[in-house]
Amino acid sequence: MSFRADILTLYPEMFPGNLGMSLSGKALERGDWQLAATSIRDYATDKHRSVDDTPSGGGAGMVLRADILAKAIDDVTEVDDPRPRLLMSPRGKPLTQERARELAQGPGVIIVCGRFEGVDERVIEARNLEEVSIGDYILSGGEMAATIVLDAVVRLLPGVMGNHESGETESFENGLLEHPHYTRPQEFEGRLVPEVLTSGNHRLIDEWRLDQSRKLTQERRPDLWAAYLAKNDG
Ligand code: SAH
Repeated sequence: MSFRADILTLYPEMFPGNLGMSLSGKALERGDWQLAATSIRDYATDKHRSVDDTPSGGGAGMVLRADILAKAIDDVTEVDDPRPRLLMSPRGKPLTQERARELAQGPGVIIVCGRFEGVDERVIEARNLEEVSIGDYILSGGEMAATIVLDAVVRLLPGVMGNHESGETESFENGLLEHPHYTRPQEFEGRLVPEVLTSGNHRLIDEWRLDQSRKLTQERRPDLWAAYLAKNDG
């Protein structure tokens, strides 16, 4: 059984979208993973097929109804479905490489995409939704956030990434940002590829790369650097 993603959205036509191309698209075609996007509107009950209503207590915008969302979630959930149920939400725990890797090791995901002001709190509680954020900014809907989560996860599925190694040396995998890359030509507008990289000495190359990684992380991401030091020198 391959990894299966069910997306609940008001815009199912946004999927597979970007995920239908390149690495994830080829993996989808091969059946390395499966994707189904379901319209939340299919679960509306009134003749206008409305899925949202005004916020209790007043205020701007509209809120996705708990009853309709719950029905949609229940319908894509199989008996004893072990998949985590994610809700894309700026209030959620920020997505990390670690969480992406955990999800890739599991059977799949159910992802709820919010719209408007968000969703009725009671469906989050009643269906045990895990709120996941992709960063501290506000998008107009959860669809692109869901695409990002799936892109990060799918490339980690077995067989999806061609060169296995490149998954392990990337930024964040060892708690550091990645070292800079170079390729031909040897000289570009007077700038040379660092000499060590053409030395053929792999021990020196590894040392140089680790050194660059550490410097970059220290300069750009004091938060990651502190965590790295605590883990490696502590
Ligand atoms: N009123 C909400 C924002 C709603 S944005 C608040 O202030 O918290 C509408 C929908 O877009 C959300 O329900 C969520 O599904 C999605 N969304 C917006 N920003 C996001 C982010 N940073 N990460 C993940 N999903 C996000």
